[in-house]
Parts: sequence; structure tokens; C-alpha cells
Amino acid sequence: MPNEAITVPFVSFRPMEQELDAELRGAFARVLQNSWYIEGNEDAAFEKAFAAYCGTEYCIGCGNGLDSLVLILRAMGIGPGDEVIVPSNTFIATVLSVSYAGATPVLVEPLLDTYNIDPNRIEAAITPRTKAIIAVHLYGQCAQMDAVNTIAQAHGLKVIEDAAQAHGATWQGRRSGSLGDAAGFSFYPGKNLGALGDAGCVTTNDPDLAKKVRALGNYGSDYKYHHIYKGQNSRLDELQAAFLSAKLPHLDRMNAERRRIADCYRAGITNTAVTLPTVAEGCEHVYHIFAVRCKSRDALEAHLHERGIGTNKHYPTPIHLQGAYRELGLDRGALPIAEEISATELSLPMFYGMTEEQVRAVIEAVNSFKE
Ligand SMILES: *Cc1c(COP(=O)(O)O)cnc(C)c1O
Repeated sequence: MPNEAITVPFVSFRPMEQELDAELRGAFARVLQNSWYIEGNEDAAFEKAFAAYCGTEYCIGCGNGLDSLVLILRAMGIGPGDEVIVPSNTFIATVLSVSYAGATPVLVEPLLDTYNIDPNRIEAAITPRTKAIIAVHLYGQCAQMDAVNTIAQAHGLKVIEDAAQAHGATWQGRRSGSLGDAAGFSFYPGKNLGALGDAGCVTTNDPDLAKKVRALGNYGSDYKYHHIYKGQNSRLDELQAAFLSAKLPHLDRMNAERRRIADCYRAGITNTAVTLPTVAEGCEHVYHIFAVRCKSRDALEAHLHERGIGTNKHYPTPIHLQGAYRELGLDRGALPIAEEISATELSLPMFYGMTEEQVRAVIEAVNSFKE
């Protein structure tokens, strides 16, 4: 069959769903049998398993990844008048979490090669109002956590990981979620560990923070009908927890498969118009996204689409140029690295269960592109 006929979607959940079909149906049947849907054994069991997986003392389930970061900021007492450092190249949820907490986001440029926050630019952004740094492990690779933690310690700042794209990623042998004061995870279906709906969690080693996060996500209640904070409703429901428990034992294997596909891309893509993602020393990438860069990105995208290859852009408009963040007063040119990434980044197909034929089709289509 000629390659032109192969359609490679940007992402497909089918191979994973087919493989785990019995386990997912079993999880659903168990919850229905128990007839218990919020705050029960499934939630507790998943929290225990995911904390052990990340290497933290505590895991607290919540409604989604955005809430996980909001709950952490609120539990740390960060709010109006405070500033929080965030990378300028990230999904908007990172920045929105700071706004939801009532604090002010301060955008710091990433490194062009790893796409993660540039530690050398953090100190210039610190003011007497700065309370925390949110380090995003973007696209599946951990940020430079040694440098981030050293700067935070020197200035008395908290370090929050946004690990929404990096389940299982390691930095110097330690898993994401255990590399700062607290971490927020999303289990949105498309993430490396995804629920069958919205879900998220917080991991931390701090017992007081863990208690406060749990209370804040459950109407500010430490026990039933006793409210110590003006909390919110953000809990991990039993059904999603059961699905996540079914999928967690397969995460390392599925991440390894993503790495294998990435290695095939690295070995096969020889087009010099395309820059492949860099893996920093000490990092094990989990390739939530395989992000390449190309000066003629839109032409490359059109070339791939013509050949039936699905792609995506992460992200087409940087945060500071979004209508939602006009208040930052940053015009085009203010954050050139974030702008460069959003103008040149293209995400290639990457999902568990991609066939050899599909991987080869992507490589051939990229290699046949001429600027
Ligand atoms: C997905 C994502 C979030 C938000 O997660 P939701 O579950 O969609 O709320 C936060 N940060 C990053 C970097 C993400 O990719």
C-alpha cells in the first residue's frame, strides 16, 4: 500500500482502550456494585498508589489539573498582592491558576532547546512580592529543578510543579511530582495518564499542606459539616479513580513505548529544516508531545496534512498575546522566545499503539518536505 493512503491521526486512544477494555469495564462494574460515587475506597486506593508511584507521602485527588494548582496556591496562602513566577510558554491553565488564586502571574521566558523555564532568567523577575515559582514540565520533560530549587531557597520561595504533561517523567532518577514543595497533575483523557473524563491530583510530602488541600477541595471541610475555609468543590470521583487505578500499572510501559517512537523519529528524521526536541541531562522524557520546530512551520503542517498526517501546535498563541491576558500589558516582541516557539513549533503524532507503518509514514512525510 502506498504511504499516501496511510492516515496517521495526531492522537488515538483506541489501541490503549482495546488493550485495557476488560480492566476498564471491571473498574466500572466494581464502582456500580459498590454504589458509592464520591470520597470512597477507589479514591483512597488510587491516591495511595499514585503517591507511591511518584515517591511522595501524600496524594490528594481533585477535579482537574487547573484545580490542582489553584488548591496548592490557596493552601500555601498565596493570594491578592502576591506574585507567582510562571513560564511564558505553557498551557494557559498554569497562568490561570495564579489568577484564580487572586495573585499576579509574572511570565519568565523558557530555554529554546528544552522549551522549559530558563533558570537564568528567574532571579530578574523576583520582587519583594514574589511567593512562588511554578515550574512546568512541558511536553513531558522535567524543568531544571536543581537550579529552580536553589533560586527558590535563596529567596524563600515555594516551588510548585505543574506536572500535567509529565506523569512518570524523571529528573535525576526522581519522578515528577516529588521535585518541589507540591505538584499538580491533570488526568485529562489526552494526558499520559488519563481518566475517562476530567480528573486531577496534588502530590506533596508536606502533611499540613496535604490536609489543607484536601479540605479546600471539599468545601473547606475537615470533617462533615465543619467548615474551616471557604473551600471549593473539587474532588476525584470514584469512577475516575477506578479507571485511573486500572491504567496506572501500565503507565511506565506506555511511556516507554512513547520513548521508542521518539527514538524512531530521532533516527529517521533527517530533514535539516526541522529541529528535533532536546533531552536535557538527567531527564527521562515521557513525550506527552513530540515538539519539533521549523521556520516554515505552517508550510510543513500543510505538507503533512496533505499526506494524511495529523499535527497540532502547542501553543499557537502565547499567553501574553491572548485576549484574556491583555492586562499584563505585554505586546508582540515583549517575550520573543515564547513568540518564536508559538510561531515555529509543530507537534507530530505521538500515542501508545502507533504502528511501525504509521511511524514510518510520519518520518517519510517530514523528510520529503522542502522549505
Ligand atoms: C492539561 C494541562 C493543565 C490543566 O489540566 P486540566 O485537567 O485540563 O484542568 C495544566 N497545565 C498544563 C501544562 C497542562 O497541559
